[in-house]
Amino acid sequence: MINKENYSEVLYIDLSHKKFWIKNRKDLFDKYIGGTGVATQLLHEECPENIDALSEENPIIFAVGPFTGVYPFASKTIAMFKSPHTGDIGESHAGGRSAIAIKMAGYGAIVIKGKSDMPIYLVIKKRRVEFRNANTLWGMKSAFTVGDVIRANEKDPGMRTIMRIGLAGEKMVSYAAVVTETYRHFGRMGLGAVFGSKMLKGLMVSGKRNIEVANKKEYVKTYKEIYDKAVDSPVMKKYHDLGTAGNIKALNLLGALPTNNLQSATFANSEEISGEHIAENFLGRRVACSHCPTGCIHLAVLREPYEDEPYFYKTTMVGYDYELIYALGSMVGLSDTEEMLKLIDLVEKYCLDAMSAGVVLSWATEAMQKKIISTVDTDGVVFEFGNLKGYMDAVDRIVSQPNDFYKALAKGADFAARKYGGLDYSMTFGKNEMPGYHTGVVGYLGFTIGARHSHLDNAGYSIDQNEMINSTPTAKEVVDKLIKEESLRQILSSISICFFARGIYNVELISKALHSVGVEMSPEELMSKGREILKEKYRFKVREGFAFEKLTIPRRIFELKAPAGMIDENFFNEAMVYAKEKLITSL
Ligand code: SF4
Repeated sequence: MINKENYSEVLYIDLSHKKFWIKNRKDLFDKYIGGTGVATQLLHEECPENIDALSEENPIIFAVGPFTGVYPFASKTIAMFKSPHTGDIGESHAGGRSAIAIKMAGYGAIVIKGKSDMPIYLVIKKRRVEFRNANTLWGMKSAFTVGDVIRANEKDPGMRTIMRIGLAGEKMVSYAAVVTETYRHFGRMGLGAVFGSKMLKGLMVSGKRNIEVANKKEYVKTYKEIYDKAVDSPVMKKYHDLGTAGNIKALNLLGALPTNNLQSATFANSEEISGEHIAENFLGRRVACSHCPTGCIHLAVLREPYEDEPYFYKTTMVGYDYELIYALGSMVGLSDTEEMLKLIDLVEKYCLDAMSAGVVLSWATEAMQKKIISTVDTDGVVFEFGNLKGYMDAVDRIVSQPNDFYKALAKGADFAARKYGGLDYSMTFGKNEMPGYHTGVVGYLGFTIGARHSHLDNAGYSIDQNEMINSTPTAKEVVDKLIKEESLRQILSSISICFFARGIYNVELISKALHSVGVEMSPEELMSKGREILKEKYRFKVREGFAFEKLTIPRRIFELKAPAGMIDENFFNEAMVYAKEKLITSL
């Protein structure tokens, strides 16, 4: 029986005193399901108000959900923290084996507090935490090598995950990521910097326990229903075949592919970086997160000949998807596939968030075009759209931070633009760098009002593509749709489902699937829970000083035609007034 004891234990780890303890938090799991719902409450409990996100008081919270290890696509671990990048709520999801390892080690959530006095990594098992010296790993250039060393060092059998940071996290670049299982990331919002601030190089979680269900017969039936829907779904097949990289062609055709810092929404050389081209010429293999029948993770083979040995190649597998290609391809004007893969590989080795890194580079390029910065600021590096060498040198310096300019770039495009100028083309929303969608007004409203300022909060870009071209909803209707979608996504992330499977898991099915694992919640209760969790996130944001009035919207979005025409500023502003009323005034 999946009684909640199976996943309601929370492991607390204090890095300052090298101590740990376990508490049963059935109260939280009963009320907030798991994943995002529980992690948001733990953030309220553990994060003191208005702390510096890089201080030892900032907690790192990982939470999994009732479907982890039970149903397909329940692959995600939810990380929650105060973001050093936005100063606001930090939430990031990663798959791989992270969630199943945490569940099989016996935990529903892990809270890491304090700061170690030396570099360490953690080994987390059932009712045991070991604190390992990571002096030899600190300063290692590649996060991939760090994983190799921990893997070789730790011999435990069982299901395990290894999360770690690269040099970017050690140097506390505010958009540093945490990588797990080499190709999955807690990418956005700077979790890597929070690890670095605690001198936490990584952690391994390993578990062996069985996960049982309440109602076996019903469970098997529901499982089959979900599995069949997944394998018959043309949408999931698309994720498997080309992956999200298939969007490059489509969005370019629509005129929605941000290019050269959104100076354009079409990229003349998009063919070279399209999912089709990469699949035909570079695809090495696909991999999947645990318990996923789709396998959307695409790895390209990058072969680089050694200078003096022309028939010897350095072969690297480079993970790619739409967002990486947009940010480190079209947004910086790189059209040569191999060059783009080299830049992606460098960003991944340092373990930077690729989207933020690409937008930071593209802002700096336009700033150099407009002569508000020069090579005196950039340590001689020439920022130029399409210039790989300049970008590789710049990424090295963003991590090593040799001068004030790179110290500013290491804090993101918004920070750099406030210091040097160019806010109108600093493509950030709530200080978070934009994703690859110049689809229209709803997409931008979505980034602006989403709790994390992420396209994943409410997918406004889908509403642009599916509804705005043929209809004319009011500003209020659009905001209501965005909030409804974001509330629904709180349920998905509380049961810790991959958002790619959102078309499979509707609330009726979730309610039924919960019943067969011993949790009673009607579709109506789920919807109301989703709204409550979103409110709780906004409560945290407001507590930390968020206000709609403080948001700066880059003018660029109003100057470039989107698929449904120019973006109407009056409509945008009207929607913002209503969003404030719905999300903040009613708190
Ligand atoms: S669809 Fe992709 S990201 Fe989602 S669980 Fe499967 S492999 Fe992981």
